[in-house]
This record gives sequence, C-alpha cells and structure tokens, in this order.
Amino acid sequence: MPIHEKNLIRPENLSTHENLVIDGVDVSGDWSTFIKTRVVPDYNEEMQEEIAALPGGENIHRCWQCGSCTNSCTVNGLNPDFNPRHWIYLIRMGYESELVRDKDIIWQCVSCNKCTYACPRDVVPEGVMKATAHWLELKGYTERSPSSEFDEEFSSQVFKTGKIEDGRVMMGFFKRTGQPLMQDWLVDMVKKMLRGLPVSWLMKMGMATVIHPRTKNWGPARDAIEEYAREQEEKHAAAVKGAHRDAMFHAAD
Ligand code: SF4
Ligand code: SF4
Repeated sequence: MPIHEKNLIRPENLSTHENLVIDGVDVSGDWSTFIKTRVVPDYNEEMQEEIAALPGGENIHRCWQCGSCTNSCTVNGLNPDFNPRHWIYLIRMGYESELVRDKDIIWQCVSCNKCTYACPRDVVPEGVMKATAHWLELKGYTERSPSSEFDEEFSSQVFKTGKIEDGRVMMGFFKRTGQPLMQDWLVDMVKKMLRGLPVSWLMKMGMATVIHPRTKNWGPARDAIEEYAREQEEKHAAAVKGAHRDAMFHAAD
C-alpha cells in the first residue's frame, strides 16, 4: 500500500529492504517500505486547550482533518513540509515534540487566509497558525520570529503616536531584525514608482515619510490600550503551562 504524505514521516522512521522476496514475489526497494513502530512518551494532553486559549486558536477543536486548508495553502504550494492540517492533528493529539520539530517553519504562514476560506468547519486555520507560533514563543521553543518583531514595531508606533506610517514601520522592522535599510526589492520598487507615478503623488508620499504628525490628546486612549494589552499578555501567559517569557508585548516600554 502506498504511504500517503510520505514527506511527513522522518527518514529514520522508514524501513526499506533492498532485497526481499516473499513467496517468490520480489518486493525489493519501495515495495517493501514500512513505517517503523514508534512510541510517544511525552503527550501534552493540554496542548489543544493551551493553543485554543490564544487569539486565533479558539476553534481548533472543530477540525475534522479534511485537508482543505493544506490543499489551498500558499506556502504548502512552495514547501510541502508546511502543512496546517498535519500541525492541527499533532496539536489535537498532544504530540508536543513532533510539533516542535517544525518550529522553524510554522511562523512562515503569510496570513493569506486561503485556508480559512476553504475550511468547511470554520476552524480558522490561519488563526490557529498564529496561535501556534505564539504558543511556541511563550513556551520558549523559538526565538522571537520576524513576524513578532513586525507586530511589535507596528504596536509601538501606535502607542507612541496614535497612528502608523508604513515607511516608518518598515524601517523600524528592518532595524529590529538587523536588515539593511536599503534592500534590493525596495530600491526596485522606488525606481518603478518614480517611473510610473505623478510627481505630486511622489511629493506627498515623501512628505508623509519625513513629517510624522501625532494624534492629538492621545494620552488617555494610549493608557487604555496599554492596560488592555498588558491584561491580554498576562492572560495568555497564564493559559500556557510553563510559559516563561515575561512579556510578548513590549510596545509601551
Ligand atoms: S493563511 Fe497561512 S496557513 Fe493559511 S493558506 Fe495562507 S499561508 Fe497557508
Ligand atoms: S480545512 Fe478545516 S476542517 Fe479541514 S483539515 Fe483544515 S482546519 Fe481541519
């Protein structure tokens, strides 16, 4: 019988006989590939509950493993190892160590939401991917991801000025992640804009990048948002067993 989604099985867990004849039938090579028996000693029976307590993960219990999310996924089209359906299965089964093996790619979800539109059970897989990346950080399995840095830069600008300005968010994100401010794609984009946009638009965009107006009388609203953000941060850390990060959200610091 063929092994479906063979890429999900680690090579060390597959066994193939190069020379095997059974009752006169040669079943050497791929015909004799078997999955080795495995023992999982470290179930986390609360993993689904912990991820469901984080924003986006609320409906994970509704998944019936149809695979529509993975079939429609933008990133899966480029990398078959990126598999939302498989991760939801691992979370629901409590296979923590299996999930953690993929910690370096889970955060690569581009939030295109194709999976969410395809899901017949309203699981909101895109939200589950976010909650899972958040969970991995809270548990200390991953370093801060680029998307966390982006979110934090975005939030910090709202806290400071009451609004965001796209150019400043990008520059702040590049600084936080140690990337050069002049990226090839950015230079290309600016060149295309210079060729294609009216001069008055370009001047307006340039001025908006240089001048950063602040929202007036922003203090009370900022305080309320800051209080809410801190409450949420504490709630999320409390929901995840063994969470050891002091704060995911330093926007107001
Ligand atoms: S939102 Fe993420 S998981 Fe869903 S289809 Fe897009 S890349 Fe895939
Ligand atoms: S599409 Fe929805 S129900 Fe189907 S496997 Fe993905 S999350 Fe589960």
